[in-house]
Amino acid sequence: MTKLLKLLPSVDRLLNAPECAELIGRYGFAPCKRAVQRELAALRGALKAGRLDARALVKSKRFPAALYEAAQRELAEEFGASLKPVFNLTGTVVHTNLGRAALPEAAVQAMAAAAGSACNLEYDLELGGRGDRDSHLEAALCELTGAEAATVVNNNAAAVLLVLNTLAAGREVVVSRGELVEIGGSFRMPEIMAGANCVLRETGTTNRTHLRDYAAAIGGNTALLMKVHTSNYEVRGFTQAVSGRELSELAAERGLPFVNDLGSGTLVDLARFGLPHEPTVAEALAEGAGLVTFSGDKLLGGPQAGIIVGSRELIDRLRRNPLKRALRVDKLTIAALVEVLKLYKDPHTLPEKLPMLADLTRPAAEIKALGERLLKPVSDLLGKDVSVSLVDCKSQIGSGALPLEQLDSAALRLTPVADKGARDAALRQLASQLRRLPRPVIGRIHDGHLLLDLRCLRDADGFLAQLRELGPNR
Ligand SMILES: *Cc1c(COP(=O)(O)O)cnc(C)c1O
Repeated sequence: MTKLLKLLPSVDRLLNAPECAELIGRYGFAPCKRAVQRELAALRGALKAGRLDARALVKSKRFPAALYEAAQRELAEEFGASLKPVFNLTGTVVHTNLGRAALPEAAVQAMAAAAGSACNLEYDLELGGRGDRDSHLEAALCELTGAEAATVVNNNAAAVLLVLNTLAAGREVVVSRGELVEIGGSFRMPEIMAGANCVLRETGTTNRTHLRDYAAAIGGNTALLMKVHTSNYEVRGFTQAVSGRELSELAAERGLPFVNDLGSGTLVDLARFGLPHEPTVAEALAEGAGLVTFSGDKLLGGPQAGIIVGSRELIDRLRRNPLKRALRVDKLTIAALVEVLKLYKDPHTLPEKLPMLADLTRPAAEIKALGERLLKPVSDLLGKDVSVSLVDCKSQIGSGALPLEQLDSAALRLTPVADKGARDAALRQLASQLRRLPRPVIGRIHDGHLLLDLRCLRDADGFLAQLRELGPNR
């Protein structure tokens, strides 16, 4: 056995061979050494187990080329991108698992510029001394919402946490039982309350809460009144909720702050683009809220961020909480958000410039025309094992924004041609093949078909070129 093992070349010999030079040039010496070691160890293992004929192996013309190829595959995997651009054909425009809003070009460029260089993140260029990172955003946020002051943290969950911990640690927060929302993942209002060290004081019932319920819930230990947007569900039927204006008035009477967690938070009335109306941040402030919290990457169409606007006094208190330091945003987020907010200064052009809004407002007729153009080539490329048709479908906004509003759209419907028993497996295999493309294609499985909703498909040529690659080996 020892003699047989000695037939295999040493790691050093393999690494010093001219055939290995390109691999080392591309991936570096140390990673190549580890990969070659792993491949050699696998051969030794196979040899010891009697699964490999060492003499035949070293004489074979494919050796050691096959070993280098295996090492190359391993290294390509190791060094390949983990975070890949994908085609979002799920029909959910703002898809949390797919990274929510795609950013406008100006924001992408600003992020790249800030990323590759030192910048005046917290440096006052006028005075030549320490500055404040909020200063890059505060004026624009105030202008767009009518607020006195604004600050930004990592996401809206962090915004809610910071507000609760600052204004109500160790004290009670009054919230309607109809608004104890869970957002996908682990954001659940009762748990955020506990995490912020507050006592949740529920009031009213699931379907009906009255102003008198809030009034009755206020006691000596109450710190604030809170309203939470029921983002991803709707209570329908015999219902009653209290408006932000009434709650603001009650809070003011009792000398308490009123906080409105808007969730998606839009800066403009979406109705002007033919979408359903969502309460805007300016409206929530005009109702009298002391603070309003919302996400940067839902209906705003910007980077992941949590934005808090409201009274100067309350915002200053948030800034003094040490948690603010732990939840702050980095220069990349600020760079992107600054650019996105600039687009809001001229709302007319938003649907052209903000990809999220471009997708949400894309006319159904345009999507259908794209489908008609793609139907034949896609059908040809997928071959006779898959039948392809163009169907009407509904897209949704996503990320807990306007859960019941559905947008007219069109989808390519892919159906594997297979016996009844094998159909499910064939469908899953087709979906998996599309996910393994260089730019993965993510659709949704519905009722025995794979639907590719074309609403968010912009690079149709790139999409087709990839399917060509999939070709006959499917
Ligand atoms: C989405 C949402 C959050 C959480 O926001 P993230 O930006 O995802 O952290 C909090 N509250 C409400 C009402 C929401 O809709």
